[in-house]
This record gives sequence, structure tokens and C-alpha cells, in this order.
Amino acid sequence: MKRLIIVLALVLSFVFGIAAANAGKIEDVKAKGVLVCGVKDSVNLFGFVDADTKELVGFDIDVCKYIAGKLGVKPEFKVVTSKNRIPMLVQGSVDLLAATMTHKFSRDEQIDFSITYFMDGQKLLVEKGSGIMSTDDLANKKVGTVKGSTSEKNIIAAQPAAQVISYDEYPQAFMALKQGKVKAVTTDSGILAGLKAGDDNPDNWEIVGAFFSSEPYGLGVPQDDSAFRDFVNKSLNEMWLDGTYQQLFKKWMGYDLPAGWQIELWPM
Ligand code: GLU
Repeated sequence: MKRLIIVLALVLSFVFGIAAANAGKIEDVKAKGVLVCGVKDSVNLFGFVDADTKELVGFDIDVCKYIAGKLGVKPEFKVVTSKNRIPMLVQGSVDLLAATMTHKFSRDEQIDFSITYFMDGQKLLVEKGSGIMSTDDLANKKVGTVKGSTSEKNIIAAQPAAQVISYDEYPQAFMALKQGKVKAVTTDSGILAGLKAGDDNPDNWEIVGAFFSSEPYGLGVPQDDSAFRDFVNKSLNEMWLDGTYQQLFKKWMGYDLPAGWQIELWPM
């Protein structure tokens, strides 16, 4: 009898041990009571610190808050950079990434992505009247961007003769532009718009050229957890259907959502 109880206890602990190991992100987040989102803290419009309240605000921050609300938990924020965000999700230090991140097949090898929740492309930010109109004008010129971003790779492909200098975050690249250390800053147009708008003299700067990349933003979610990914995608659909998406887009971007663009909607 004693032996039977021991065997039974072993079997049960094994079964429950496996169940615990397999507990998905949804259960994990609900048990913790918080959804930890990896976000930017210096990307105006998307993830940045409000000068008055000192709180993190922006489009990505609001997307994270919405999903946390759907899960019935509190949002918590951890600051990530373009370089460390995927490792932070892989290590489990964050549950989700809402960090201006483009969904690329190469990134898909390590993590999974939600449906596209924001669409952009890469451009250049230059001093007004600089004469730089496109990537053609950047041969043998210094261009600032950010480590670990798609922007870094795209500019090298678009203009191999440019000298690319990569910083940790976009404000540093913009500072380099102001100090004359680079002739242009390059990344997604929305981020460039945020840099320009956040400057004391926005009229000193202009965003130039045609889009030279496609940057569909996805929320980063842990690899192979389809229940969580489904939940996130459904939340994004609900966000669109209840009008929150359109309202947040207007709030942060300052203009109405471009006609013809809509999030990928799945029938309920
Ligand atoms: N969306 C691009 C990327 O994921 C550039 C912006 C960023 O660095 O987050 O790399």
C-alpha cells in the first residue's frame, strides 16, 4: 500500500510538473496578475516618457494597455532597445514586445509575431535645405540609425556607399545630426516624424525621399504559444472593431488613419 502511494505521488507530481511546464503565457500572465510589455522609452509617439507626468506613453504603450485589459491584468513596462528586445522576450523577461518592431522572417526564427498592427516604411530625416533628397545623395556621407534595427540593414542595401553609424536609440542619432556628425537619420517614417515633432525647432528638419522599405509592425510574442498569439490577434481585432485603434492612431499620429488601410480582420 505504502509503495502504491509513493508511486501514485510520483506519477501525479510528474503529470502536474509537465502541466506546469506547459502552462501557456495566458495562464502565466493571469497568475502573475500583470502583462509585462517590452517597450521603447525614447521613441516619440510610440513609446516615450511624458515630460509632465514622467509616465511611459505612446501608441505602443496604449496597445499594451489594451491587451492587458483584455486579459484582466495590469500592464507593466520594461524598456527595451532594438538590439536587446528579441533576447529579452526569448529569456522571458517580458511577455510581449510592443516596440516599433518590424515582422521579418529572419526574426521569426526566434519569436512569433501578431498580425500587422501598424504599417510603415523607411525614409530619411535631414536638415532643411541640405540638398539631400534621397538615398542616392548619401554616397560617401555619414548616416545615423540604430543598432539591431531593420533600418541599419536597409540603408546599407539601398546605398552601399553610405557610411552608416549605428546608435543605441534614435534620439542619439538625431543628436548626431544636429551636431553635424551625420548628414541624415534614417528609419521608419513615423519615428522620424516623432523626432522632428519633438524638437524645439521642428521646421529646421525635413523628411525626404520615397519609402525604400516596407515595415509591417508586429507585436512580438513567445515562440510556439499559439493560444497566446491567438488571444493577442483577437484583441487587436477587437481593438479595431470597437474603434479604439482608430482613436489611438489619431491621438498619437495626429492625423486620421490613411484611407484603405485596415488591420487584418478575421470573422468572429
Ligand atoms: N521597425 C524597424 C525595426 O524593427 C525600425 C524601428 C526600430 O528600431 O524599432 O527594426
